[in-house]
Amino acid sequence: MKIWVIGAYGIVSTTAMVGAKAIAKEIAPRTGLVSELPPFRGIDKYAPLEFEFGGHEVRMLKNAFEAAEEHWELNRHFERDLLDAVKEDLEKIVANKGTALNCGTGIQGLGKIETLEDDGLTLKEIVNRITEDIKRFADDETVVINLASTEPLPNLSEEYHGTLEGFERMIDENKKEYASASMLYAYAALKLGLPYANFTPSPGSAIPALKELAEKMGVPHAGNDGKTGETLVKTTLAPMFAYRNMEVVGWMSYNILGDYDGKVLSARDNKESKVLSKDKVLEKMLGYSPYSITEIQYFPSLVDNKTAFDFIHFKGFLGRLMKFYFIWDAIDAIVAAPLILDIARFLLFAKKKGVKGVVKEMAFFFKSPMDTNVINTHEQFEVLKKWYSKLS
Ligand code: NAD
Repeated sequence: MKIWVIGAYGIVSTTAMVGAKAIAKEIAPRTGLVSELPPFRGIDKYAPLEFEFGGHEVRMLKNAFEAAEEHWELNRHFERDLLDAVKEDLEKIVANKGTALNCGTGIQGLGKIETLEDDGLTLKEIVNRITEDIKRFADDETVVINLASTEPLPNLSEEYHGTLEGFERMIDENKKEYASASMLYAYAALKLGLPYANFTPSPGSAIPALKELAEKMGVPHAGNDGKTGETLVKTTLAPMFAYRNMEVVGWMSYNILGDYDGKVLSARDNKESKVLSKDKVLEKMLGYSPYSITEIQYFPSLVDNKTAFDFIHFKGFLGRLMKFYFIWDAIDAIVAAPLILDIARFLLFAKKKGVKGVVKEMAFFFKSPMDTNVINTHEQFEVLKKWYSKLS
């Protein structure tokens, strides 16, 4: 199958590419891939573990190998042998120039960027260009995934985002201030009838206009924001307090990370959407809102080695306050990359089974899953297993 990646030269994207190619050559294990677990046996009939990649970027490097090597030099996040073994495969992946419309001040941290809007293109011309790029690459077995830097909160309006007709009018009238890059990519993918996933907190396909488009085109889509680290632990652990009828009084999460992602998120406008996405989970899961602090800070020397410190204050029998602490210390791209392959496979499976619109059953993979309040990881895993077993 094929994956079109928005943000093709990022660390999550290139790590997924290295992993996919190394697995195909049988030189890397399948550890970390949910779709390879026994409950999902048979998925390779619909979506084999073999991928071709293409994508959009705004850092116009030579190819995906150059990007992967740059990330590797900073992070050494896997054995160098693996990178050398897939060098030729990655050199063939050359991204097209994309749009960074209304992507906020954070992306200035990416260094030199080149975008379609800098060439003076209108909204309609931008949409046409990205659509043509995807169309040249795509076939019936293609999925589009957004792995670009996190955008600031969007300027949403009922008029332009509430209906498909309004969204298309926004494009025709060149109302650039209402559009954001992630929406335009999602629009192009869905309009082409391609399943779409949003691994970032940016809006992507999560606006009513694009949900309508997905229904109309009969395409499955899923998002938002990959659940890979601190939030994964939080949504796995918090149910424990609920099961034992203990009250979570306060929860502090302090995240530090480096790398491009950390740099972009250190900009206030870009950070805001990430904090919101992380913050909402406790309330949704526990049914009340404990006092909560969620902080994300840029810490350059950590590079992609994201560290999260969590402090939980909770009340037990006789009203006694007690404390729980944990530290999550993981390589962000290593926990995220396998999920990209999983999400692509489940979405292609969904398409082949005639599923259209938001695939709520894929909530397991996301921090802010669309159209569902099932946030508890244990429940989400059960839902995913049942859905797969019913359809397969
Ligand atoms: P990264 O900064 O390494 O990669 C992002 C890539 O997107 C960069 O190469 C950048 O040049 C490119 N880009 C930025 N804006 C673009 C645009 N408008 N169009 C095309 N390309 C664009 O970041 P990453 O660590 O690979 O993370 C990717 C995304 O996934 C981020 O939004 C991040 O918040 C999200 N995410 C990551 C994790 C994780 O790593 N564990 C978990 C959840 C969500």
